[in-house]
Amino acid sequence: MIHRTELAWQTPNWQQSLANAISSLDQLCKYLELAPSQLPFSADANRQFPLRVPYNYASLIEKRNPRDPLLLQILPDIQELNKEPGFITDPVGDLTHHPAPGIIHKYHGRALIITTGACAIHCRYCFRRHFPYADSGIKRTEWEKTLAYLESHQEIDEIILSGGDPLVMSDQTLTEMIDQLAGIAHLQRIRIHTRVPTVLPERITGSPLMEHLANNRLTPIVVLHINHPNELSPSVTEALKEITKNHIFLLNQSVLLKTVNDSPSLLTLLSEKLFQAGVLPYYLHLLDKVEGAAHFAVQKEEAIALHQAMMESLPGYMVPKLVMEQDGADSKLPVTV
Ligand SMILES: *Cc1c(COP(=O)(O)O)cnc(C)c1O
Ligand code: SF4
Repeated sequence: MIHRTELAWQTPNWQQSLANAISSLDQLCKYLELAPSQLPFSADANRQFPLRVPYNYASLIEKRNPRDPLLLQILPDIQELNKEPGFITDPVGDLTHHPAPGIIHKYHGRALIITTGACAIHCRYCFRRHFPYADSGIKRTEWEKTLAYLESHQEIDEIILSGGDPLVMSDQTLTEMIDQLAGIAHLQRIRIHTRVPTVLPERITGSPLMEHLANNRLTPIVVLHINHPNELSPSVTEALKEITKNHIFLLNQSVLLKTVNDSPSLLTLLSEKLFQAGVLPYYLHLLDKVEGAAHFAVQKEEAIALHQAMMESLPGYMVPKLVMEQDGADSKLPVTV
């Protein structure tokens, strides 16, 4: 009972931050001290995938800089309306791998649960920007079927909570989910894919959730999504400490994005800052070819050169694997020319 009172007292803080996230051009411009005419905002792009950015992330954007690399990640941009050949709505084939409600099972040994369609932030390059989230996230009434699928697949030893972003769900829902998954004997590891620690760190700091995740039969792993060294603010590194102090493995995946992070010195600095914060760089993804994101694409040859430069300036353990996703493949694929 005491536990519940604590949760009830705690959750409004981050949930309030989430509810108050910037969702209009006016709010964004006012906060960043920019005139709307200074930004290549597109109302059509915004209708397709609406602007959404919590203040904690917006506070890391440099004021009066229309080309800030964090701003570019969240601004509905007129370039999104360009139709480029090869850029499609479901580039990784996720819509065709649903063996049970909310489950994507493409790779051996691990299955992914689309826990919710919601995210704390809307990243313009997201491969799920056209996803029919409302139909694909877990519904309470179907959860039994999801669990039954996992139970009947002995070969799955790792479960990945993804979305959307699982950490926008309440502690109570997540805790119940984790406990039920821990009851499946052949599962060994639980992994959470999330961008929340870097966009809504207040959701992590002071929440009992990470402790619960750690005090569990399953080995816990959190995979962050951080693209730029500026995303590692003091409040973010504090949230990361909350995770590592619970002995949860902390990894990061980045997406290689033109004009945002396609520079060897930036990527090197990102790896160094991540490591300093207790995070191992895991993957550097080539952009998924999703409709509306072509202006973020970095060519393979250039990506390989950037990766090579990272190898030449960092210890091997700080160099993420350069990978791409291909519909129908059995794993992420190394990028080759
Ligand atoms: C990326 C991904 C995984 C995890 O792959 P790892 O290489 O283990 O990180 C699992 N399932 C799906 C559907 C994925 O897209
Ligand atoms: S947080 Fe992740 S899933 Fe959500 S919009 Fe950003 S990249 Fe996509």
